[in-house]
Amino acid sequence: MHFAPHDFRRLFATELVNNGLPIHIGAALLGHLDIRTTRGYVAVFDEDVISHYQQFLARRRTERPTTEYREPTRAEWTDFQDHFDKRRVELGSCGRPYGTPCAHEHACIRCPMLSINPKMPARLNELEEDLTARRKRAIEEDWRGEVEGLDLTLTFLRGKREQARRFERTGPVTQDVPVVPHQKPKLTGG
Ligand code: SF4
Repeated sequence: MHFAPHDFRRLFATELVNNGLPIHIGAALLGHLDIRTTRGYVAVFDEDVISHYQQFLARRRTERPTTEYREPTRAEWTDFQDHFDKRRVELGSCGRPYGTPCAHEHACIRCPMLSINPKMPARLNELEEDLTARRKRAIEEDWRGEVEGLDLTLTFLRGKREQARRFERTGPVTQDVPVVPHQKPKLTGG
């Protein structure tokens, strides 16, 4: 590995920020007028993100009433698990948070919450074929509003296909639902 003197500024910025110094103070120490320059200097490691998030949760728990952190009842836990089952949709996994309904009328192909299943590009191709045929008909009939809507859906669909390709390269991420003592673990996708 070859180090240049400037790399030590990057290491310095990373150490400062990852050890809890607010980034705007780091920017002042480094002589940056724009905080975005400092952001570009700081390397963000996965373990730091997790550790900072855990610290945030620990801090928050000390500030909230302890009753909020009681063990869930069996019914509450079943409801929680059911939510993850309901997040499985034809094209993949819906990422909406627990306790929230679908806000997009199940138009998953257009929804940023949909995480596409890497096995589904063939289904996306079928949908694209169908949408393209509908678009052709809409043009013939001069249904301009319909053409606009279909174009938007096609743009989202292509974006989802690109996402599926990326996931195919990086591999799927699976998450287990946390376990409480009176329950056996239940694995979910997404
Ligand atoms: S439209 Fe979005 S929020 Fe609704 S089920 Fe589909 S992915 Fe989830």
